[in-house]
Amino acid sequence: MKTENKISYEINLETLQDLINIENGLFKPLTGFMKSADYTGCVHEMKLADGTVWTVPITLDVDEETVAKLNIGEKLFLTSNGKEMGSILVEEVFETDIEKDTSIVYKTLDTNHPGVRKEFTRNKYRVGGKTEIIDKSILEGTLSPEITKKHFKDMGWKTVCGFQTRNPVHRAHEHLQRVAMDLCDGIFINPLVGWKKIGDFSEDAVVDGYMAMLENYYPEHNVFFMSLKTQMRYLGPREAVFHATIRKNLGCTHFIVGRDHAGVGDYYGRYEAQELVRKLQKENDLGIYFLLIKEPYYCKICGHIVSESSCRHRDDDIEYINGTMIRSLLAKGHEPDERFMRKEVADAIIELGEKMFVTEE
Ligand SMILES: [Zn+2]
Repeated sequence: MKTENKISYEINLETLQDLINIENGLFKPLTGFMKSADYTGCVHEMKLADGTVWTVPITLDVDEETVAKLNIGEKLFLTSNGKEMGSILVEEVFETDIEKDTSIVYKTLDTNHPGVRKEFTRNKYRVGGKTEIIDKSILEGTLSPEITKKHFKDMGWKTVCGFQTRNPVHRAHEHLQRVAMDLCDGIFINPLVGWKKIGDFSEDAVVDGYMAMLENYYPEHNVFFMSLKTQMRYLGPREAVFHATIRKNLGCTHFIVGRDHAGVGDYYGRYEAQELVRKLQKENDLGIYFLLIKEPYYCKICGHIVSESSCRHRDDDIEYINGTMIRSLLAKGHEPDERFMRKEVADAIIELGEKMFVTEE
């Protein structure tokens, strides 16, 4: 009887991905888009209404025209390219103060920040409630705790370290991953491949680079590689905790946070993400063990990739692994020095030519 009054709303690909990740349990305990109590708690206290630590708002924004048609307790159908993908039970409609909330969450209102720029394109109206996927075919091949937990169990891993990245593997990341391999039964390399800003490395560059690393260097028995599809928020410290929460839900027992995790430009301090983790750990059980590791660099005296925790040399004796430099060399088709990136990794990326970068947002 309701079919004539069916209300639909067209969502973008990032929101569709949130819907999928909610359905798959990656954002547990969330079972839908946030209602105002969870949203406000998240923005101001980094906690959901029930006290669970939660650092990144996950909300559905809709336009004013749609809001006017909504009734509490009814469903809003969510379409992508006109096709019905899922629905949300309208439990609550609320208004956000985009400018104020963005300044708290992102700690800046500078629109050069890609996350801030994106927030300002959203509607202030949010619909909160439990979501459902209607077209189950979109879940095929997507990352879920069933897949990862089964794999970890089949491999006999009791401890698994999650590794987040949005870049191709260089020697600093290799160092972090080898530390994790020595400490844990297995490592889950889980690069983020959703929406990223123009100029970031493309999904192909990240995946092809890792394939070269796995084929040539890493052991087969303790590495699992699968991509995580969700948008980058460039939220630095908050996103580091969010990334850990997702990996906890995927069955990881450990998670690495290094220098400037999920940062962009110099909006967040070098070790601000680690500081936030330490602060939250004091009062909460985050349910996952954090490896807070200092930035690895090449030391000419030690002749190794080391960090300030393991090497006494400084200044002219050390060379940081400079992502910007690696990027510009690869863009010109040049292999970076092997102290910074493995030749096989560089070659796999160079082969992609222009496709190594994100060219549209
Ligand atoms: Zn040294």
